[in-house]
Amino acid sequence: MTVRAAIVVTGTEVLTGRIQDLNGPWLADRLLELGVELAYVTQCGDRADDIEAQLRFLADQGVDLIITSGGLGPTADDLTVATVARFAGRELLLDGPLEVRIAEILRTLMAGRDGVDFEAVMAANRKQAMVPAGAEILDPVGTAPGIVLSPTGDGPTVVVLPGPPRELQPMWSRAVETLAVQQAISGRTEYRQETVRMFGLAESGLADTLREAESRIDGFSGLEITTCLRRGELEIVTRYEPPAAGAYAALIDLLRDRHRTELFSTDGALVDDQVAALLAGRRFATAESCTAGLLAARIADRAGSSAYLVGGVVSYSNEAKVELLGVDAALIDEHGAVSEPVARAMAEGALARFDADTAVGITGIAGPGGGSAEKPVGTVCFGVALSGRPTLVRTLRLPGDRSDVRERSTTVAMHMLRNELLSLPPD
Ligand code: ATP
Ligand code: MG
Repeated sequence: MTVRAAIVVTGTEVLTGRIQDLNGPWLADRLLELGVELAYVTQCGDRADDIEAQLRFLADQGVDLIITSGGLGPTADDLTVATVARFAGRELLLDGPLEVRIAEILRTLMAGRDGVDFEAVMAANRKQAMVPAGAEILDPVGTAPGIVLSPTGDGPTVVVLPGPPRELQPMWSRAVETLAVQQAISGRTEYRQETVRMFGLAESGLADTLREAESRIDGFSGLEITTCLRRGELEIVTRYEPPAAGAYAALIDLLRDRHRTELFSTDGALVDDQVAALLAGRRFATAESCTAGLLAARIADRAGSSAYLVGGVVSYSNEAKVELLGVDAALIDEHGAVSEPVARAMAEGALARFDADTAVGITGIAGPGGGSAEKPVGTVCFGVALSGRPTLVRTLRLPGDRSDVRERSTTVAMHMLRNELLSLPPD
């Protein structure tokens, strides 16, 4: 049986795009793990009528579970609980023990601060202790409690969660354990989801292979495949019920067969994770111009406290390349700042400057201006230097605007680095 859910993301700041919605995608993943089909994610501002209209729409679609995010704070624009109560035809009641609990939290939060009128704060927060009759209360992670409301008639179960992701996420785990949610999701199908990643293959190439898979693989129709292009890589996500595991294995075999060099991950790992594992125990440095330190930032994201990222130079001007990285000024004069010899010299310069054993140099034209007929915007030169080996250089013409070119450049650099490190003989 299919259990269907919907997510209502509230908040004017999210609706207008000033804040990127993190809760919809996060909850979507959790529902998927649970085997619940996500039917809708809707967004609206902090307006009671709009929130209620969405709840009605979703209830009319027959979803079993609605999860709302946001609008649980103490201020007047936080209306979700009252709106959900109205939607479900439940009275709002002051919950005494909850009020005491919130008071304790606030007292701790305000301890040591001068000039705070505790009674005034408590009055404002009394609102957060008002809950719909019959609701199950989810203990606050911040100051706002969440709520689980079991169905009225044949309506949906509603879970009301706070907006800040650091509050919503722990509270969702508790919401799932409640009887009302367990009943709403009982009878769900078990799904598996696997992710495969490829680099250097066009979507059309993959489409060809998938057509072949469709005609060759028994049970292929049991695989729900979605592909998307992210940061210059192809991400292929497949969802299937356990009986289709054989068809999925056959699909992976076919992908390996046809795209051996492009297929770099079958366990969902990102190239960032793979490079992080390969860099462990090494000393890595960067020399970047058009990517402005983005490669170093991407590496640092995974490096955590391990010490393999030694440092990086962002060198836009020729003087910076010469003075900070020791690039020969004559080389720049002869070949131009965006050239393979300069990319090589930057990588080797970073190697020497940071006493590293692994370094990447990137120099390119990310635009919008600055291109020429010979080197148009999007021309990027890469150098990957490993001590004791000849430096690998490459030039690519990358499509898109400045941020696309920068993002793709870091992805290309990651893959060149990965390939170089993989080609090292094992110690
Ligand atoms: P608070 O008590 O903090 O007001 P709340 O439940 O009322 O909690 P909101 O007022 O909707 O939550 O949002 C508070 C803040 O939480 C937002 O300004 C934003 O920074 C963050 N936030 C809310 N919703 C989202 C979302 N969908 N994705 C990412 N961040 C969000
Ligand atoms: Mg709020």
